[in-house]
Amino acid sequence: MPIAIVSAMHEELAAVLAFMPDEHRQVAAGRAFWRGHLHGKDVVAVLSRIGKVAAATTATALIERFQVDSILFTGVAGGLAAGVGVGDVVVADSFLQHDMDASPIFPRYEVPLYGASRFATDAALTARLLAAVGTALPSARVHHGLVASGDRFVSTTAESRALQQALPEVLAVEMEGAAIAQVCRDYGVPFAAVRTISDRADDAAHGDFLQFVQDIASRHSAAIVEAFLRG
Ligand code: SAH
Repeated sequence: MPIAIVSAMHEELAAVLAFMPDEHRQVAAGRAFWRGHLHGKDVVAVLSRIGKVAAATTATALIERFQVDSILFTGVAGGLAAGVGVGDVVVADSFLQHDMDASPIFPRYEVPLYGASRFATDAALTARLLAAVGTALPSARVHHGLVASGDRFVSTTAESRALQQALPEVLAVEMEGAAIAQVCRDYGVPFAAVRTISDRADDAAHGDFLQFVQDIASRHSAAIVEAFLRG
């Protein structure tokens, strides 16, 4: 059964496809899935597109149509906790949706009818991913913990401060991970996710983000994916 490699942005997917000698394109759910081999492993690479719903559709199609046995997400995120800076790497041990709020019927952040606000990544796959990050990027600062997802590009200092205050444990913020974690929990499919910090989710985030994605993010992702598949 193939391993899924999911990226949110074109630049990152392109960096992965560059190392796939035999990929062929298959369309499902209005998306292109690239099936082939990467560093000798059977993989399906796909662009999730941005946001929770797009990510959930992508994960569902990977599981239902391609029978993937695990999902690895690589991408960028905004650093939230103090000390999580641009260029650092965050490996998620769990996700929450910072824009989920069905209070007062359910506690804030809890996903209704799941009885939980946090969705854990797979421990064994995540341990492999942490080892791969160490191999691929030996000088990077690596953080491991809670990541928040929501349908907002957090790009004001006021909003990032409010998030830090409400959720002091959150290391980084992005727009897809919690959705994939929830789908993977529904199906019992192991999931792991790594994000390189592209910005600090503050007033300077937009400029930092564009520059970073072009210069660094895709090379980081490709190196981590290679070490993960070879390890
Ligand atoms: N303004 C950007 C929007 C891209 S969305 C643009 O013009 O292209 C940002 C993507 O990177 C999402 O896939 C998200 O997961 C991640 N991301 C990086 N920094 C983020 C931040 N500060 N807030 C939310 N998502 C962020």
